[in-house]
Amino acid sequence: MFMAVESTLPTPVRTPASEKDAKALQFIEEMTKNVDSVQERVLREILGRNAETEYLKRFSLNGATDRETFKSRIPVVTYEDIQPEIQRIANGDKSPIFSVHPISEFLTSSGTSAGERKLMPTIHEELDRRQLLYSLLMPVMNLYVPGLDKGKGLYFLFVKAETKTPGGLLARPVLTSYYNSDHFKTRPYDPFNVYTSPNEAILCVDSFQSMYAQMLCGLIMRDEVRRVGAVFASGLLRAIHFLQNNWKQLAHDIATGTLNPKITDAPVRECMRKILKPNPELAQLVTIECYEENWECIIKRIWPRTKYLDVIVTGAMAQYIPTLEYYSGGLPMACTMYASSECYFGLNLNPMCKPSEVTYTIMPNMAYFEFLPHGSSTSCLVDLADVEVSKEYELILTTYAGLCRYRVGDILRVTGFHNAAPQFRFIRRKNVLLSIESDKTDEAELQNAIENASLLLKEFNTSVVEYTSYADTKQIPGHYVIYWELLVKDSAIAPADDVLNRCCLQMEESLNSVYRQSRVADNSIGPLEIRVVENGTFEELMDYAISRGASINQYKVPRCVSFTPIMELLNSRVVSKHFSPDLPHWTPERRR
Ligand code: AMP
Repeated sequence: MFMAVESTLPTPVRTPASEKDAKALQFIEEMTKNVDSVQERVLREILGRNAETEYLKRFSLNGATDRETFKSRIPVVTYEDIQPEIQRIANGDKSPIFSVHPISEFLTSSGTSAGERKLMPTIHEELDRRQLLYSLLMPVMNLYVPGLDKGKGLYFLFVKAETKTPGGLLARPVLTSYYNSDHFKTRPYDPFNVYTSPNEAILCVDSFQSMYAQMLCGLIMRDEVRRVGAVFASGLLRAIHFLQNNWKQLAHDIATGTLNPKITDAPVRECMRKILKPNPELAQLVTIECYEENWECIIKRIWPRTKYLDVIVTGAMAQYIPTLEYYSGGLPMACTMYASSECYFGLNLNPMCKPSEVTYTIMPNMAYFEFLPHGSSTSCLVDLADVEVSKEYELILTTYAGLCRYRVGDILRVTGFHNAAPQFRFIRRKNVLLSIESDKTDEAELQNAIENASLLLKEFNTSVVEYTSYADTKQIPGHYVIYWELLVKDSAIAPADDVLNRCCLQMEESLNSVYRQSRVADNSIGPLEIRVVENGTFEELMDYAISRGASINQYKVPRCVSFTPIMELLNSRVVSKHFSPDLPHWTPERRR
């Protein structure tokens, strides 16, 4: 059971912590006061420099850089619409298709198309824009939490595998690109941004070794830690789970000053050699805290000076809030920024607010933003400065790297304004049914996975008559649960356990590459589970929905469930449970 814990939020001190902070805050004020003129300038710059690109010429923009011409000629597009051009760039076409600046690499989004990560073209200077947004985060945080320069941040940061496209361009996630850049690796010393994790540990591609070294450093520097974080809540919970599994070895390393022989990466070993010294007292403390069965408040117990958790708990990550509250003893959770592979969008100007109240202010200098009122046609786009409070919009983006009127797929609600800049609540990502961490499985992918798996049932004269799903995050790592109602036409040859286990694996093989990477490389999603329910269960589900007012004519089986009474009904009808017996196939190489 999770305790409901009231966060004790610090009140803002409201004076910039330094001259540098004052400048950053001044920049935010300027941007948010002049949203519309900044947006006009950004569009002018993008269209001016890219006037000679194949894409803008195709729509006869003829060098125009004003909004009206842009809006009347350039279509709103999805990834699939521009995929042929993306593929040409990936295959080595260096002509200016989207951007006159050379495409420096592809950023691989956790959003997928046909099962593979989407490839987002980027240009070198985008790193400066990303860094600029990062540089605004601490000046805002320092207004609310004083003294962060007196200690360090324990952040669990990871890189993922990189690949090359057929034309030789690197393809990797945006954070892998950022952590490998000089902007990050050779960042100047800033007392407000000192991490416990050495670059060598962050940049180690092996997720076990990277996590091990980062955790070890976090334990060694426990007294200095003032904030604990990861990009997403799921990443921080993975770190806690890792500590649960590895504390004995970690304590042994600390006690003896020797490094676990499983850590073989030479740069990590070399930097840990300098950090690791025998410290039996600390080893004992770690042992006492971790030995206990009860891990409530473990973050506060091990890192007692932590003032807040720095993790995103909005959107799909909201499901982790109760678990994080449990492990942290109710520490405030700061969601500091809203970003994607396509573009970094903006920041939370009130980072110590409750998770349910988080809003992000989009910075108008990052790209040109338009908003499609939810449910309207693409001819009704409004500008950033013109969105209306309490309305929901889909975010449309035009970037310096050459994406034009691109549908990101995020739905945002306007909650208010900071100066002239709207503030948005992240509502949801379109078409996402199941998500444990960065995986985003939609209804079509789930349907396809079910169809592939049910082929294995054919020879047993059995079919799947109904199904639904649930993202089970009660345990770490979380896993997909799929409820199946089966029609067994000949009980003499009903599918045995091992067949249904293989169905689990077959489903996993059919899911997108982000899911499979999380299973195989990151171990951040557990084996998929099929729960077979009694015949008639889905009819009961319908009866229940109708008793609550659903129309019989329009009733559709929900393909994902989370509502407690429905979960209870389904779970009370389970006749057997099956788990994937193996890991699905995954390599960094793309299938297409
Ligand atoms: P990716 O392209 O893999 O970097 O994923 C970017 C997507 O992650 C965004 O389009 C959002 O759907 C989601 N995301 C990023 N930041 C946040 C946030 N602060 N809160 C909720 N969702 C977020």
